[in-house]
Amino acid sequence: MAVHDKFLNKMTTEFSQEIWESAKVESKTPLADRGIGSITAETVLESMTDGFYLLDEYMKFDYINEIAENAIGMRRSEILGKSVREVFPDLQGSNLEKQYQRVLQTKACEEFDEYLGVFDAWFHIKVIPLKRGGMAIFFQNIDQQKRLEGKLTDFAYSDDLTGLPNRRKMTEIAVSLKQQGKKFSFFYINLDNLKFINALYNYSSGDKVVVSVAERLQTLADSRCHIGRLGGDEFIVVRESEPAERLDEFAEKLLEIFREPFVLADFQTAYVSASIGIACIPFDTGRLRELVVFAETAMYEAKKNRGPSYSFYRPKMNVNRERRVLIEKSLMSSLEGSGFYFTVQPQISGGGINLSGIEVLARWNHPVLGELSPLEFIEVAEQSGTIAHLTTHLLHGVFRMIKDWEARYGWDVKAAINMTPSLLANPVFFEGFFNLMEQYGIRPGLLEVELTEHAEMAYSETTMRNLELCREKGISIAIDDFGTGFSMISYLTQFPINKIKIDRYFIRKIGEDAKSEAILKSLIQLAQSIQCELLAEGVERPEEVEFLKKHSCTVFQGYYYDKPLRVEGFETKYLQHELFGGKKNIQIPWD
Ligand code: C2E
Ligand code: CA
Ligand code: CA
Repeated sequence: MAVHDKFLNKMTTEFSQEIWESAKVESKTPLADRGIGSITAETVLESMTDGFYLLDEYMKFDYINEIAENAIGMRRSEILGKSVREVFPDLQGSNLEKQYQRVLQTKACEEFDEYLGVFDAWFHIKVIPLKRGGMAIFFQNIDQQKRLEGKLTDFAYSDDLTGLPNRRKMTEIAVSLKQQGKKFSFFYINLDNLKFINALYNYSSGDKVVVSVAERLQTLADSRCHIGRLGGDEFIVVRESEPAERLDEFAEKLLEIFREPFVLADFQTAYVSASIGIACIPFDTGRLRELVVFAETAMYEAKKNRGPSYSFYRPKMNVNRERRVLIEKSLMSSLEGSGFYFTVQPQISGGGINLSGIEVLARWNHPVLGELSPLEFIEVAEQSGTIAHLTTHLLHGVFRMIKDWEARYGWDVKAAINMTPSLLANPVFFEGFFNLMEQYGIRPGLLEVELTEHAEMAYSETTMRNLELCREKGISIAIDDFGTGFSMISYLTQFPINKIKIDRYFIRKIGEDAKSEAILKSLIQLAQSIQCELLAEGVERPEEVEFLKKHSCTVFQGYYYDKPLRVEGFETKYLQHELFGGKKNIQIPWD
């Protein structure tokens, strides 16, 4: 935990201070008076689903966000300026007070779960010391989880969050039905936009949706219809067949529960859509193992439709599986001469005249399947454990290119490499990465590592260590697809990042949707408040460039400037131009 804590502490402290400075100014304006035009760091704090407050060095309330107001059950006007002991007389001598005092004395971050009698609830609490004195407190009500943990004696068979039977239990139910020779169907349910809800709101909102989906699904359960959660955003229904029953009618009933919006942790609402795959025993197969695979395959087919949808398994869907197996096999062999290559996409700064970097994007012209999307083969590589092999192969090519360009053109800008969560959590890969840099003589200042927001990365020690090593060496770290993944706030506070790449999702909404524009503005402000470099991804239209420049985001990557180019094409267009001549910033010969 040491490395993680060090960063958490450092980043969160600096972050909180910055946020606080801007929040303090803005908090003079009552919340209700603020429209969408007023976007500040406080707006971000207010949109978190964590409760948040600041205490000064005398433990008096300096600031409190709306979630915390609601949790405490008092308005900020009653709280600000008062000491915690005045607000919570029960605090005196409590463990929580001791934790506060410890943080003030040691200036080190504390993170713990605590039962607070006054609220009759469990909380997860993070206390972070501030450089200017006092501390920042983030908290989340985890009562539901804690109570579930305590209540379920048979927890090995239940899902912690929803209390539904888990994968293991559902498997046992299916095995038992099969042993009794019964006919039954699997309805494999996958929520389409949970990731998005986690990104835009927070994990607790995502959790709340999962719990509500479970509750609504359970209204359909009976002695012949079993409902379970497989994990994450996946549920399964095992339903015994009845004479003359219509499976599509039941599938419609399942979709029906998604018609009404879901209430999120901060009382906002959101629509959640689901994709359902259906396979039956013995109609589709006599084997249980195949039944799960078939239902899942059908679910992926349903996902191709926008919005809530279901699909029955059809044998031809298996072609997709075969394709996947073929990709997996190819990834296990040597990639030399296999049609694997990469493109580079320029990153343009200075309002659109300088080349400030490139992103390396893998490509594969597969000998049997033809040109493959990286989205497809990277996912297969990640899941099949061949991503390190693929990325190392890519690095050889990129390093050769950098050395060549350095020698011939005085190349002096960063090349960004995409890293998946499993690579970041792999110490052996990073050792190889650093050795390879040494072998080719690559200056760390010429490299950037891009990581995508992923929940599973949040608390990995190895990831933190790898990122810290990169930083120590002078390799820049960028957060990719920012705004679409794991809770943005936790991310910024946990990782040692240099750059934020705002996802195209927000860019393409420019000029269309005021709310997304407002979020975009607050993301820009957030990046600036923690002194992060900022890049807008997927810029396609002139009005996007205009808007971004107007709001002080001046580094772009997107089709508006250039698509990813083959190495030779990039070289011709950007490097063989006489203006370059070894200068740090390359003047672009715009068409
Ligand atoms: P990404 O890292 O977000 O890369 C940006 C993607 O957006 C690229 O897609 C790029 O071609 C596309 N793009 C750039 N500008 C625009 C634009 O203006 N409009 C639109 N619509 N798209 C734009 P690509 O090359 O298909 O890559 C897709 C994803 O595959 C990447 O998303 C990345 O997550 C992954 N990927 C690609 N190469 C690698 C790699 O070498 N390693 C890893 N781990 N992942 C890779
Ligand atoms: Ca990327
Ligand atoms: Ca991206």
